[in-house]
Amino acid sequence: MEPHGQSPWSSAKADKISLFLNFFPRVLAMIIKNIVVGPLEVNCYILGCEDTREAAIIDPGADADKIIKVVEKERLAPKLIINTHAHFDHVGGVWMIQDHFKIDFLLHKDELFLIENLNEQATSFGLDRIPEPDVNKFVNDGDKISLGQKVIKVIHTPGHTPGGVCYYVDNSIFVGDTMFAGSIGRTDFPGSSYETLIKSIKERLFPLGDGVMVYPGHGPSTTIGNEKNHNPFLT
Ligand SMILES: [Zn+2]
Ligand SMILES: [Zn+2]
Repeated sequence: MEPHGQSPWSSAKADKISLFLNFFPRVLAMIIKNIVVGPLEVNCYILGCEDTREAAIIDPGADADKIIKVVEKERLAPKLIINTHAHFDHVGGVWMIQDHFKIDFLLHKDELFLIENLNEQATSFGLDRIPEPDVNKFVNDGDKISLGQKVIKVIHTPGHTPGGVCYYVDNSIFVGDTMFAGSIGRTDFPGSSYETLIKSIKERLFPLGDGVMVYPGHGPSTTIGNEKNHNPFLT
């Protein structure tokens, strides 16, 4: 019995809906969890395939215990740690996540110099030393990483750092510090280049289409269209 009167679903309508659901293959959404970590408020993201519960952790910069708790609460099975780049605020929690889940850490090879000077990076910000994580595999432009039923595409976007990459899956892209809502990544670090960064954004990200959701390494999410039309660095 419907508590509020007539059911709006006539049986003919219900039949049509079940026909529709059977006709089209099931396309399940991607699970996206955002956890803000560390003193520089980095966005760590957990991506999960809803079908298989397999998950990838992007940029676990700090607060590994917080990240592990979310993984467990969502009943996800982490398979990989994938980083957009290797600034200390994005990699500080990698060693602990690696140790806990025994999973591989993937990074672009042009970020290795940053892993090697992780402690100088942290101490220059007045922060504690960070144990170096093991880089188990390199990611390259055009790579396709399988995660359950999903495929994550790697797009090399140098500029903020030489080996900075974005991870593109379904209609979402995880851009690290390449671009933010209304801003772009800093280019005053060793190995950074303003011209290269602008070129990466305009030539590699904009063509993906205005409707693509953008998840940056700091601050709120946005869309390609929003940034193309309103970001003062890019219009
Ligand atoms: Zn950075
Ligand atoms: Zn950052």
